[in-house]
Amino acid sequence: MTPKLLSASLMLVLFLVGCAPVLNSPQPVLPKNEPEFSPAMRPAPTAESASGQASAPITEPVSGEPDTATQLYISGTFHIETNRKSWPDVDAFLAFIEHATTLGMKWSIGADVGWLEGEPRAAEVVQKTTALGVEWDVHTHVHADRARAAALIRQFGGTPTSVYSGFLIQDWDKFVPEATYRGENWVLGVLWGAVNCPGHRPGCDEQTPGVWSPSSADNYTMHDPAGMLIHVGGGTHQLADGRALAEQIAAGQVSAPVVSFTVMVTPSTLQIFPGEDGLEEIRVFYAEMNEYGFVRWATIEETARAWDAAGRIPSQVGAE
Ligand SMILES: [Zn+2]
Repeated sequence: MTPKLLSASLMLVLFLVGCAPVLNSPQPVLPKNEPEFSPAMRPAPTAESASGQASAPITEPVSGEPDTATQLYISGTFHIETNRKSWPDVDAFLAFIEHATTLGMKWSIGADVGWLEGEPRAAEVVQKTTALGVEWDVHTHVHADRARAAALIRQFGGTPTSVYSGFLIQDWDKFVPEATYRGENWVLGVLWGAVNCPGHRPGCDEQTPGVWSPSSADNYTMHDPAGMLIHVGGGTHQLADGRALAEQIAAGQVSAPVVSFTVMVTPSTLQIFPGEDGLEEIRVFYAEMNEYGFVRWATIEETARAWDAAGRIPSQVGAE
């Protein structure tokens, strides 16, 4: 077998192993010639590179059973839309985030430009939450607004991550790879919350937990080993499904090193979307998940970086 053929076979094996989460195989070792992540597309700017300060470390478990080969990265997120009806009460929102970060959970917030420009206390929210370790992602429903949202976050004293949410998968060609607003560049690195159709109707949202590099709009869920963007799957956001995912991992039914799950909270109600679970249920969930030694609390961007560092093995749990 030529080296080229050998490497192609290895890649195929890695891909198959990653796509078959029911197999409980040992972690494969990455070949040395795994495609390099293009520096231009590396999740950037990170909190470290942009501000010169190290971001808070990903939370280590406080207790638990022996680690499995798989680590479950759990993030929390909010999306604040341009529509005023979706806006949070600022004081209640800040109080929730203070409690939720004090627990030890890591949060990623995305806000569309309507809120960033229209909420008189937006800068205060960005500053206070950033001080609590929250990361600010780019969440816009108009692609042209991405760099503007990033610029506003920067202007308010935050550091926009490379995470983008709020997009339609079929618009892939329009939002890859980067955007500019008044000379300020914003580079896309991570995708979260992809949808196939607008309006959060049944079947519209991509809800597979796990991380991969999408191939294209037509083959979004097919992992591309040489792909430059990272999709972090949030799952259904339901606590019960997060528990079920942890049980699957504990039972050895998942083989990929990094799996993701996101608890998504509606800013205006401070309840998990969809549903009525609030801070108290999240507190119970947090304590339960910490019983698993393989759970890591991380922002969406941190999850993508951990997946990259662990060898970029696709982990679409439950996908066919
Ligand atoms: Zn939105």
